[in-house]
Amino acid sequence: MEIEEKDKNYLFHPMTNLAAHEQTGPPMTVVSAHGSTVTDRAGRDYLDAMAGLWCVNVGYSHPEMADALREQTLKLPYFHAFSSMGTDLPAQLSERLIEMAPVPMSKVFYGNSGSDANDTQAKLVWYYNNVLGRPEKKKIISRRRGYHGVTVLSGGLTGFKNLHDGFDLPLPMIRHVRPPHGLWEREPGQTDDEFATALAVELERFIINEGPETVAAMIAEPVMAAGGVIVPPETYFPKIQEVLRRHDVLLIADEVVNGFGRLGVPFGSNAVNMQPDLMTVAKGITSAYVPLSAVLVSDRIWQVMLEGSAKYGSFGHGYTYSAHPLAAAAAMKNLDIIERDGLVAEVARKGELLSELLHAAFADHPNVGEIRGRGLMAAVEFVESREPLRPFAAQGAFAGAVYQGALAEGVITRALPAADTVSFSPPFVVTESELERMVAGVRTGLDRAVEAQRKA
Ligand code: PMP
Repeated sequence: MEIEEKDKNYLFHPMTNLAAHEQTGPPMTVVSAHGSTVTDRAGRDYLDAMAGLWCVNVGYSHPEMADALREQTLKLPYFHAFSSMGTDLPAQLSERLIEMAPVPMSKVFYGNSGSDANDTQAKLVWYYNNVLGRPEKKKIISRRRGYHGVTVLSGGLTGFKNLHDGFDLPLPMIRHVRPPHGLWEREPGQTDDEFATALAVELERFIINEGPETVAAMIAEPVMAAGGVIVPPETYFPKIQEVLRRHDVLLIADEVVNGFGRLGVPFGSNAVNMQPDLMTVAKGITSAYVPLSAVLVSDRIWQVMLEGSAKYGSFGHGYTYSAHPLAAAAAMKNLDIIERDGLVAEVARKGELLSELLHAAFADHPNVGEIRGRGLMAAVEFVESREPLRPFAAQGAFAGAVYQGALAEGVITRALPAADTVSFSPPFVVTESELERMVAGVRTGLDRAVEAQRKA
C-alpha cells in the first residue's frame, strides 16, 4: 500500500476536513526539509513561509540540534520530575528562562504543548484563588480571535467559534471580549490611543458587570498570531493592565508564538509593554524539534502556591513528560544557536525587508485591506472592497484561494481561519532572496485567486 493510502485509511488528521480527506488523502507528503525549504515525495521543493506552524525558528534539520539530541539520547533519554526528582538539563533550562524572561519571574513549570500549558495556567489561577480563600474568583477573560489551544479548557479560551462548535465549548467560566483589530473594530476617525482607551473602558465595564470578585485572570497573546497577526496599539496593554490591576485580575501572556525572538525582540511582552503575572511559552523554545512548553510564574503567585502546600499537600498537577530531559536538551541547544548567531537581531532586520516587500507587492491592490506585522511575523488581510470597507461574504474562502495559488508556486503560507488573511512566519534563518520568492509566490497566488473569482 502506498503511504498516501495508509494516511488516508488510518491517520486521523488534526484541523482537517475529515470527509474531504477521506476522498483526497494528503495533498503532499513532506519527506525532508532543510533551512526554510521542505521537499515532498515527488522531489518538489517548497519554501516554508510559516516555519511549520510558526515554530521551526532555527530552520529545519540543523546539524547541531541533531548532535545535541543524539548525545542526550545516549546519556539520559528520560527521567521524570515527580516527587522532587531532579535531572540536569531541565534545572539549567529553568535558570536560563528565568534569567531571560521579559519581566521578573520566579519558577518554571513544564508541559508538552501550548494547549496543556494554558490549561496549567487556568489551574494555577484557580489554585491561587482557592489558597487565598476566594473560591468565587475563577472566571478567565480571553479575546475573540485569540488562540490559546484546543484542550477542554484552552479550546474555550481560544476565541474562534469554529473550534467551539461541536465540542460544547467554552466551559462556563470563560468570557470573551473585543480584540484590538483596528481594521474592523476601530471607529472611523479614532486614533490608536483613543481605540486603546475605548477597549480598556469596555473591559472595565465588562469586569464590573461580571463582578470583579468573580474574575480571576485575563489571557492574551502580545501580538495575536492565528487570529490574523494583530499588533495592538502601543498604549493598549498599559491601559488594559491598569484596569486589571484595579480589579485584582491576573494577566497571563501567551508567548507561544511571540516568544524567543519572533518579533525581532526577545519576547512579545517586550514589544507591546506587557507586564504579565504568568507567561506561557512553547513552539520556539525548541524550534519544535521536540515538543515542549513552559509556564513561567511570578513571585507573587509563587508565594501563594507555597502556602498551598499547607492547605492541599503535594501539588496535584504534572505530566509524565514534565521537565523531559530530551526536550530540555533541544531547548538549550536551540537557545544557544539563537544567541550565538544573533538571530533575534536578524529577525528585526529581515522583518523590515519583509514589510517593505509586502507593501511593494500588495499595498495598491483593491482586495487588500491591511498589511501588518512585526519582525518575521506578518499578514495580509483581504477584503471584497476597500471603499466602502467590506469583507468577503464567505469569510476565509478568498484567503484559502490565495493560499492554494501560492502553494502551486511552491510557497507554503497559511490562510488563517478567523479572517481572510494569509500569514508569514518564516524561519529566522530565511535568506533575503527566499523572502523575495515567498512574497512573489503569494502575490501570484493573489492574482490567481482574483482570476478564479472573475471566472466564477
Ligand atoms: N497559544 C498560541 C498563541 C498558539 O499559537 C498556539 C498554537 N498555534 C497555542 C497556544 C497552542 O499550542 P499547541 O498547538 O502546542 O497546543
